[in-house]
Amino acid sequence: MYAKPFEPSYEYACQCDRYDELASFQHEFYKKDGTIYLDGNSLGLLSKRAEKSLLTLLDSWKQSGIDGWTEGEHPWYFLSEQLGELSAPLIGATPEEVIVTGSTTTNLHQVVATFYEPKEGKTKILADELTFPSDIYALQSQIRLKGLDPAQHLVQVKSRDGRTLNEEDIIAAMTEDIALIVLPAVLYRSGQILNMKLLTEEAHKRGIHIGFDLCHSIGSIPHHFEEWDVDFAVWCNYKYLNAGPGGVGGLYVNKKHFNRLPGLAGWFGSRKDKQFDMEHELTPAEHAGAYQIGTPHVLSVAPLIGSLEIFKEAGIDRLRQKSLHITRYMINLINYELKDMDFILGNPLEDEKRGGHIYLEHKEAARICKALKANGVIPDFRAPNGIRLAPVALYNTYEEVWNAVRILKKIMVEEEYKQFENKREVVA
Ligand SMILES: *Cc1c(COP(=O)(O)O)cnc(C)c1O
Repeated sequence: MYAKPFEPSYEYACQCDRYDELASFQHEFYKKDGTIYLDGNSLGLLSKRAEKSLLTLLDSWKQSGIDGWTEGEHPWYFLSEQLGELSAPLIGATPEEVIVTGSTTTNLHQVVATFYEPKEGKTKILADELTFPSDIYALQSQIRLKGLDPAQHLVQVKSRDGRTLNEEDIIAAMTEDIALIVLPAVLYRSGQILNMKLLTEEAHKRGIHIGFDLCHSIGSIPHHFEEWDVDFAVWCNYKYLNAGPGGVGGLYVNKKHFNRLPGLAGWFGSRKDKQFDMEHELTPAEHAGAYQIGTPHVLSVAPLIGSLEIFKEAGIDRLRQKSLHITRYMINLINYELKDMDFILGNPLEDEKRGGHIYLEHKEAARICKALKANGVIPDFRAPNGIRLAPVALYNTYEEVWNAVRILKKIMVEEEYKQFENKREVVA
């Protein structure tokens, strides 16, 4: 990384790019000319390697038909486990603790169905008021399935500032009636990283199981689950992991829980050698594979094969180093160029609390985002007033960040955003 202190000049941005040891990876991605893509935290870009692995699996279907399950370069029957093994270093887990399956929401249903065991006086699930809606819907419905009322049994820790959570508040909410805790690793709006080590320690002191949603953290920051002893986690692979729209998700279960029957069982949770015995009694796999349900979505998982190769080469620690440097750079540039324009930087500034994206608040955010898009900068709008900008370590450059901030400044100075309606699109 370029060590010289920040300067707002174009030359400084170019110098940072020259010192970027991950620079070669950007050429592996399909980046559209004239576009600055800053939405990799919502949907990562396609890489040539992900495209290749998708085409390889498509071809295995073409060539082998049903035999593709056991033959070819990537036999489909073992793919979910193999990809779990390749994902494990990203979260500091052992290979058998990770399986690539389902989606974030279905995997959350699975782990909650598996770990939520309300008992007399210990019936509640602890979450937070800033988390992603789908997670809350899943928790509410799991509570209802137990015959309980979510209004009574789902506790959502409040935010003091509407952007971030205080670990102390979360710990204070770990009362005797809490049976299970589910929290985001990185908050989807402000990008705040929660202290997973501390929260897990505190939950375990009170005999509560705790798990995290890694949608905005996996592929962006390192995790040390083995050391932290986290009980379970779920994530999608289409954000920082670039596995494509609707790409198959991931699930982690701590090996100390491998004896737990899956809350939602299906034949793909079987021990592999037993699955085709077709017995009516499930013999669960003795690893995270037990928490699979049905037939893997082979074509939707295929791009992840190529994508994880890239992560293996780049290394999550180096990616985090660049991510910290380039987000810091973006913050400095925004502070320098966009003063007095009513923007509020809503993301944490400290390195240990800042995830992979920048969160800008502005009352005109919806139409500022439309103006950015019209100028070839792809941000991500979050109602009512949030602009997320993700300079992704694998494929974004400092020069792109410099240009994006310059364009944003122009939109504000020339009031170009006023040509647009301040209202979100169907997909924001
Ligand atoms: C992206 C995201 C989801 C999406 O869940 P899907 O099941 O993949 O649709 C859920 N939760 C969080 C926190 C997310 O960031």
